[in-house]
Amino acid sequence: MASHIVGYPRMGPKRELKFALESFWDGKSSAEDLQKVAADLRSSIWKQMADAGIKYIPSNTFSYYDQMLDTTAMLGAVPDRYGWNGGEIGFDTFFSMARGNATVPAMEMTKWFDTNYHFIVPELGPNTKFSYSSHKAVNEYKEAKAQGVDTVPVLVGPVTYLLLAKPAKGTEKSFSPLSLLESILPVYKEVIAELKAAGASWIQFDEPTLVLDLGAHQLEAFTKAYSDLESTLSGLNVVVETYFADVPEEAYKTITALNSISGYGFDLVRGTKTLDLVKSSFPSGKYLFAGVVDGRNIWANDLAASLATLQSLESIVGKDKLVVSTSCSLMHTAVDLVNETKLDDEIKSWLAFAAQKVVEVNALAKALAGSKDEAFFSANAAAQASRKSSPRVTNEEVQKAAAALKGSDHRRATNVSTRLDAQQKKLNLPVLPTTTIGSFPQTVELRRVRREYKAKKISEEEYVSAIKEEINKVVKLQEELDIDVLVHGEPERNDMVEYFGEQLQGFAFTVNGWVQSYGSRCVKPPIIYGDVSRPKAMTVFWSSMAQSMTARPMKGMLTGPVTILNWSFVRNDQPRFETCYQIALAIKKEVEDLEAAGITVIQIDEAALREGLPLRKSEQAFYQDWAVHSFRITNCGVQDTTQIHTHMCYSNFNDIIHSIINMDADVITIENSRSDEKLLSVFRDGVKYGAGIGPGVYDIHSPRIPSTEEIADRINKMLAVLETNILWVNPDCGLKTRKYGEVKPALTNMVAAAKQLRTQL
Ligand code: GLN
Ligand code: ZN
Repeated sequence: MASHIVGYPRMGPKRELKFALESFWDGKSSAEDLQKVAADLRSSIWKQMADAGIKYIPSNTFSYYDQMLDTTAMLGAVPDRYGWNGGEIGFDTFFSMARGNATVPAMEMTKWFDTNYHFIVPELGPNTKFSYSSHKAVNEYKEAKAQGVDTVPVLVGPVTYLLLAKPAKGTEKSFSPLSLLESILPVYKEVIAELKAAGASWIQFDEPTLVLDLGAHQLEAFTKAYSDLESTLSGLNVVVETYFADVPEEAYKTITALNSISGYGFDLVRGTKTLDLVKSSFPSGKYLFAGVVDGRNIWANDLAASLATLQSLESIVGKDKLVVSTSCSLMHTAVDLVNETKLDDEIKSWLAFAAQKVVEVNALAKALAGSKDEAFFSANAAAQASRKSSPRVTNEEVQKAAAALKGSDHRRATNVSTRLDAQQKKLNLPVLPTTTIGSFPQTVELRRVRREYKAKKISEEEYVSAIKEEINKVVKLQEELDIDVLVHGEPERNDMVEYFGEQLQGFAFTVNGWVQSYGSRCVKPPIIYGDVSRPKAMTVFWSSMAQSMTARPMKGMLTGPVTILNWSFVRNDQPRFETCYQIALAIKKEVEDLEAAGITVIQIDEAALREGLPLRKSEQAFYQDWAVHSFRITNCGVQDTTQIHTHMCYSNFNDIIHSIINMDADVITIENSRSDEKLLSVFRDGVKYGAGIGPGVYDIHSPRIPSTEEIADRINKMLAVLETNILWVNPDCGLKTRKYGEVKPALTNMVAAAKQLRTQL
């Protein structure tokens, strides 16, 4: 019985690749240094999988930046502005596309399906020429082979590549990248021929777009592509890999009818309906790569349950055609549990990171083949049982409270216009009130104070006084700038989710549980393992301290339940919405404590609400319903005079505008400055919005300082479509990544613009 891994994390167990990349980019090390780190990482990964007994080991899942960008390089589809003159693409051109250079900006980056990984979006136009320009896939295959490991080279499939591409500038209206299919296949053929010549017997094409809602025309492209490749592929085994969701029936029919494909990889963790499709008909003589080990999470597999699933498939596809696999590339989970020194043994026994998942896959394959490792299986069963019964996981009070929420609506007693009137009487704000999103620049000094306090190198007293001094500085600055609604600057927080997770029950934190987000950037999501509760107030101390420093309103600053959920590794033993309701109840208590402490404006950030939107349209309404409900739960109990703000880092509102309205916040501040027109068009299309709204007036992602005129111009455009009395003036997002030298002049101009326009209204 065979085993297979879809893909493996590239960063290394201690983010070795990140540090090597950044040092190279800073000019502190050579290209050879970087290549050496990369080669060592690849080699240890191959060796680890080979030692574990994996039969189908992937190659070319390593990347210096991103696998889609690797494919762009393979195809020679470099946009003209990078001045590439042909030949094998080197680091210069590759990293210029990824990160921009002194004269040319980077290519666009966007989220890879519903993960937190971001890929570089190909830019293709009718004149894009393709030529085989990166031999990386072949080189990596040969490299592994020289080390005695015969791998399965992995390529992003041609149809997925095109479906995820965007039309080059100027061709947006008239051009579809999918029309380039015939032009890119010749390059794919060259690559396939070279791999074959080098000795490959299998090739994996990742075609995850097959799980999306595709039309007939798009599905036809798969038929066209794999029929056209058929003669080149003959003599090779081909697996088409899908992941992240069910494969819809039409797509399933399309790909299982293709002759050139010998095996199919399905995500059986998220794709329960795909399992039914397989059971009702699977093409005879083909391989099924059964993705039973979850690549998106950190939980140990329930081996007994997976084994039962696999056994039920054996009779359908045949014993020799069933391959045990992961649900997707393991790059979406943490790397190796071995490096977790701070987690206790009980929690550790419940977890499996990438390295452990490789072992699980192999154990399942061996068990299917009749040589079950009894000790391994019974240790796993014991861990599953301990997780089910552990008192650390279950909190009956919380479960009851969360269960009682279902089915009801949880809305504030009065409507938003009544509330805004009541709030205005109390707050007495000018028209076009100014505010910021929460964080102020995080200086080296601040990071040091937090680090030393955590390491117990400075006392609590010293810590509190350092943070207090910082808050005071930020408050005074905002008063000088004459901002209307103030923030305390969030100096005590390193991360908007971790800060709350650390104070809530039910969360655990890793030391090295990093997951690649983009390029060299990684995130370390908290692990939600148990029922969530809030032992004591989390932010009241700092918020009331900040409020005591000023007569102006000081915003209480919280992270919302949906964002905490979407930026964590979540439980797989209950539905996501149940975990979200529990977090909502904890945040609700915090909101009420802040109100009781005299805080009259409370911002509940839902930066990641849009991110959790399911891939398939049929599942989106349900998500939006419970996500928005969770947000409302947090603040349904406050008085009319307490003003609830929310903030979102997302500018494509068209698809969720009704959810935003349904959140029923008093004021929303949103990212906008990079896409004015999109937001304006929502309101031009007649969407009625009665609550306060602050579309960001300048981009905080850039060091550029916006002029007063430019900001005023933006506000004027908004005024043309929105009621004057609901518009707020604020930056796009928090200021923590900026320097004071940028923040001061930018906010000065922002306030000046608001004041200038007030005189003209
Ligand atoms: N309040 C947070 C901040 O200002 C919001 C961050 C975010 O939206 N990502 O940093
Ligand atoms: Zn934001």
